[in-house]
Amino acid sequence: MKLIEFFGPSNSGKTVALVKMTKRLRKNGYSVATLKSTPHVLNYEKDSKDSVKYLEAGSNLSIAVGKGETILHLPRRVDLIELLKHLNYDFLLVEGETGFPMPKVLFLNEKEGMERVDDLTIAVVGKEKNPNLKAKRFQTLKNIGAEDYDTLYDVVISHAMPPLPGDDCGHCGSDCTSMMVGIIRGEKTYKNCVKLSKKAVRVEFDGEVVPILPFISSIIEDVNAGILRNLKGVKKQGHVKIEFDLRN
Ligand code: SF4
Repeated sequence: MKLIEFFGPSNSGKTVALVKMTKRLRKNGYSVATLKSTPHVLNYEKDSKDSVKYLEAGSNLSIAVGKGETILHLPRRVDLIELLKHLNYDFLLVEGETGFPMPKVLFLNEKEGMERVDDLTIAVVGKEKNPNLKAKRFQTLKNIGAEDYDTLYDVVISHAMPPLPGDDCGHCGSDCTSMMVGIIRGEKTYKNCVKLSKKAVRVEFDGEVVPILPFISSIIEDVNAGILRNLKGVKKQGHVKIEFDLRN
């Protein structure tokens, strides 16, 4: 990747020039990322307008870096299955439906919501005593009061789950959503996911085994297996050992 910086005082034509250069580069077949850097706190109104201008010019990724924060703006929807490869936090709290299998908490308004209960729903947030919850098929759901954030926090701590691979490979004879439903109900464990239970990857650093999440193990295996199987001398099945030296 090649870098170049346009700098100068406000209203000196930097944004327009960046837009024009982005258009030309894209027209000539290059991929382009754009970055706007300011020493100040980001001004969402102005900075997101510039960000959108760069995307409209064809930028493949528009970044705004301000005092204490960074915004990445992509001109496409990134699926959760792809995003998860880049995330490594203790919790991912999601607002809105993704279609990715995970435990779900349904928020009701005054009039509607219960029709959206599905097999992944573990709790309902709304009126203290929701009469609809008396129905037999809803009796396993926790009923949380509209502003009972203590109970909601307990549910997050005790019911949030690590992700399954999410690609519905079918090796378990089913799909990831059915597997997650089984795990939530206590009928299945992560060991029932054939992809996660392969345990093919072992990482050591300076002789010490590094603990890795099954999901990360699965990614390391998939990426490396795809490359290695193309090498002469590597068969379809067998034990592989790769060593790196990170001292340089
Ligand atoms: S084996 Fe795992 S990744 Fe494959 S469909 Fe089943 S739960 Fe999903």
